[in-house]
Amino acid sequence: MKAGIRMSAMLQPRRGETRCLRWALLLCSIACASAAQAAWFHRTEDGIMGTRISVELWEANKLQADQALDRVFDEMRRIDQSMSTYKPESEVSRVNATAAQQPVVISAELFDLLTTAVEYSRITGGAFDITYASVGFMYDFRGRIKPTDKAIAAALPTVNYRFLELDKAKSTIHFARPGVRIDLGGIAKGHAVDRGIAILQGLRIEHASVTAGGDTRIIGDRMGAPWIVGIRHPDDKSKVIARIPLVDTAISTSGDYERYFDEGGVRYHHIIDPASGHSASKVRSATVLAATATRTDGLSKTAFVLGAEKAIEIYDRLGDVDAILVTPEGKVLYTKGLEAP
Ligand code: ADP
Ligand code: MG
Repeated sequence: MKAGIRMSAMLQPRRGETRCLRWALLLCSIACASAAQAAWFHRTEDGIMGTRISVELWEANKLQADQALDRVFDEMRRIDQSMSTYKPESEVSRVNATAAQQPVVISAELFDLLTTAVEYSRITGGAFDITYASVGFMYDFRGRIKPTDKAIAAALPTVNYRFLELDKAKSTIHFARPGVRIDLGGIAKGHAVDRGIAILQGLRIEHASVTAGGDTRIIGDRMGAPWIVGIRHPDDKSKVIARIPLVDTAISTSGDYERYFDEGGVRYHHIIDPASGHSASKVRSATVLAATATRTDGLSKTAFVLGAEKAIEIYDRLGDVDAILVTPEGKVLYTKGLEAP
């Protein structure tokens, strides 16, 4: 009302201009109303894929935000149902149960992810290897259970990504040896994050962050400023060793403090060296940055197995990957693309 009075005092439109002005006012009021309602919407849930999922997005409309969040969480549940080795009815469990006997027809989604997993094995010289599970299934970090050296030695010959025979034309997987097992725990969360982001992009959401455990992907900025992601100290989760400003990127952190138990001065944790069958301890934590969370998740295990220097060589050679690594001595090492703070 007040604005109208002021405007009519300032501006006396001629007859023909009145309609244009009304349209302009209407459009302005729609834009102003939606800008006024737009807000950040968050949802966090524990348990899917054995971890915490968090989604944050900027939306003008609460109903649409809720629907977007529902769709992302449904997608996470769907991927958990098909890729978990803890669920006997999952597609991956079916592969583990039968692929040594005959080729198993699998979904295009699983086929593509297995193809990517094998690509990461090649890139990392076998440090990333989803057949680690042939030995890895004998560990239970919550139950403080580890296999004996004898059990590791017996299972180790079945750890090798080259035993995965993928036939694209038939969309099948066959294990070249009995005893081979796969586990996508080191890549499926990244894939799920990328799927969540794809859903949000399809809904034209321009500012969002999707996290599953240690894997995050961000679209856009945080309304004019970058998103800030902190990397925790390996021994003290209240301390941050670096804060990274991020826009439109993915970031994964792996640490030996996530799932572990200590015994006799040794830390047994969930990243396994495929060559030895023991926990891989050449770094304490590895944070990897790249365009997709599938890539950052898959490549964040490398330094634990190969050591910081070799891993940095690989990342620098790839060109699209950056990393921040914490060595057992507490040194923080960076790839070329990141400057030490
Ligand atoms: P999170 O499970 O929190 O995402 P990581 O991204 O660090 O943690 O992945 C660790 C998981 O990767 C392990 O729990 C296991 O399922 C899997 N994994 C362990 N060692 C290897 C390996 N050498 N290659 C591929 N996957 C691995
Ligand atoms: Mg991960």
